[in-house]
Amino acid sequence: MTAPAPTAPAPTVTTLVNPADETVIGTVEHTTWEGVDEAVPRATMAQVGWAALAPAERAAALRRFAAAVDAAVEGLAALETRNSGHPLTQSRWEASHVRDVLTYYSAAPERMIGQQIPVAGGIDVTFLEPIGVIGIIVPWNFPLTIASWGFAPALAAGNAVIIKPAEWTPLTAIRLAGIALESGLPAGLFQVLPGRGSVVGERLVAHPGVGKIVFTGSTETGQKVMAGCAANVKAVTLELGGKSANVVFADSDLELAAATAPYAVFENAGQDCCARSRILVQESVFDRFLELMEPAVKGVVVGAPTDEATEMGPLVSKAHFDKVASYLDDDARIAFRGTAPSGPGFWFAPTVLLPTSADDRAVTDEIFGPVVTVQSFRDEAHAIELANASRYGLSGSIWTRDLGRALRVTRGIASGNLSVNSHSSVRYSTPFGGFKQSGIGRELGPDAAAAFTETKNVFISTAASSTEGTP
Ligand code: NAD
Repeated sequence: MTAPAPTAPAPTVTTLVNPADETVIGTVEHTTWEGVDEAVPRATMAQVGWAALAPAERAAALRRFAAAVDAAVEGLAALETRNSGHPLTQSRWEASHVRDVLTYYSAAPERMIGQQIPVAGGIDVTFLEPIGVIGIIVPWNFPLTIASWGFAPALAAGNAVIIKPAEWTPLTAIRLAGIALESGLPAGLFQVLPGRGSVVGERLVAHPGVGKIVFTGSTETGQKVMAGCAANVKAVTLELGGKSANVVFADSDLELAAATAPYAVFENAGQDCCARSRILVQESVFDRFLELMEPAVKGVVVGAPTDEATEMGPLVSKAHFDKVASYLDDDARIAFRGTAPSGPGFWFAPTVLLPTSADDRAVTDEIFGPVVTVQSFRDEAHAIELANASRYGLSGSIWTRDLGRALRVTRGIASGNLSVNSHSSVRYSTPFGGFKQSGIGRELGPDAAAAFTETKNVFISTAASSTEGTP
């Protein structure tokens, strides 16, 4: 616990900007290295009492937390919209999702069931023990929901959590910490430490009092986090980048596939790890698909996030806008674009590109903005080959009316979350995570709480004692 603080000077506050109009909405002070070192023992102390609660009491406390989130949905949604630029209807869904994730995992404390294993000479049982303190490092694209995928099952399994939100989008996580306390969770059990990745994030990774890291973010940062965890032999879950394929066969409901394809990539302005940002279309219907998709792209309602009709808001920041815009250089072949407001705000119109080769960086890089490429394929084998031609493997969709083909192609694509004739990927009751460089481990679903435990094996001898039978 005595590791020195990094010497590089760092700004002590982040100035937060509303992405829709560029107005300053406040500043947030950064937690220091020493601040993390003070937070960890607070979490450790709180965790001991939390884990000692009867399972039903822990469950009831999580349900009270869920109810408090439910009562705060409107406030959280408004805050997320101001800080992250998400359309209000989407922000409401995100805040409600946190409530639902908490409710789902409130059933877990009473179901942390070990095993009884047949052995000679006694009985053998396993216990699922909480790990202790869990560090949860969150990206800026879905600040609320992604935090909840870590903290809800971690708390359910008897752990304390320390959440590090992304620099640009800390406000809803900070508010959640207040809601957790107001709902009756013990002080120290649910802490939020805003600040820099290179300070708060790295200290959580290195701190010996933090038993596991759940990291969601870019593959590059994930590699550093994994290396840091390796140095400390610390458990880690990584949810990283994606470049998912939307595979459209000629025998599909082409109208529906074309009408839904824009929403599968432009939702959250493309700042979605599951965005189907590579559309692969069978060559016999390629032109027809583009014809059908053009009005759908132009019909995406891009505008003020506070407007209930808005489907897509701005990008999160100027820095991110510049990164996304760099993909529309002179070499980019633009098929067509949607619309976006002009004036202040980081607005970027939905954009459809026709890449000239499979090596085009628009095809290989995770752009993380409202930009999609469309390529053609010959047959099933070629579709699988193109879908798999990525270092990522997070999500994807397959459109076909042939059930056998749907199953062959889903089994052939190396990806953690696939949907057939839909673009669904995240349900709190089903496992979520990536193949290849999209990550390691799974979140959500029935087994997530167990991922925040250590299995302890106990053998109890049933041999007669040597004194048995003696008076
Ligand atoms: P990022 O990697 O820049 O940052 C993520 C978090 O890590 C932030 O809180 C940041 O402060 C922190 N961080 C930065 N450097 C760190 C370090 N050295 N040690 C510890 N923590 C550090 O990612 P981002 O730009 O905020 O988010 C976008 C990325 O997240 C995209 O690649 C996207 O695909 C990915 N993502 C993945 C999923 C998933 O579930 N697979 C979900 C959402 C986003």
